[in-house]
Amino acid sequence: MAPGSTSKQRDYDYLFKLVLIGDSGVGKSCLLLRFADDAFTESYISTIGVDFRFRTVKLDKKTVKLQIWDTAGQERFRTITSAYYRGADGIIMVFDVTSTESFDHVNDWLKEVNRYAAEGTVKLLVGNKSDRTADRVVTTEQAQEFAAELGIPYIETSAKSAKNVEEAFLTMAGELIRQRVASGT
Ligand code: GDP
Ligand code: MG
Repeated sequence: MAPGSTSKQRDYDYLFKLVLIGDSGVGKSCLLLRFADDAFTESYISTIGVDFRFRTVKLDKKTVKLQIWDTAGQERFRTITSAYYRGADGIIMVFDVTSTESFDHVNDWLKEVNRYAAEGTVKLLVGNKSDRTADRVVTTEQAQEFAAELGIPYIETSAKSAKNVEEAFLTMAGELIRQRVASGT
């Protein structure tokens, strides 16, 4: 190492803060568990206090460190505070394709996101539990149409089977890199 150079080199090209939001029970914690640990559980995961996990991915030859925040169940009481959204680069809005209510509520979450999140925050719509085909009530077309109106990407996932979970987080990371490159930061 050259004299005077620091050993505290960054081990990533980009660091992004992502937050998961959406109704209670849609599978936010399971999506994070799948992405961070490649695991799944049938039980509700409630943690004490807001919690986050890190995972580093390679994308377009860049090392991207994702810090992903999950709620501790406050969404059940609609008591997510503005602090949760502070500094977020990306917001992943999750609903459950077997719950019309959770899909309708995306609009409410969106209002909150638009109130608290900084301008330019990248959004992604995720329809989770795609493995439950017999119980599905929200069609792919319906969700795609809604996302298109918002001008954001839509991805269907299954935290249970792992389908598209990687793709969802990588899509978000890709959008953020594109935004950074475009703004020259
Ligand atoms: P959260 O409240 O949004 O964090 O939801 P959880 O991650 O705690 O999941 C709620 C319930 O849905 C749990 O019983 C999970 O096992 C179940 N679940 C989550 N994701 C999936 C999925 O992709 N498919 C199926 N079949 N069940 C899921
Ligand atoms: Mg949870």
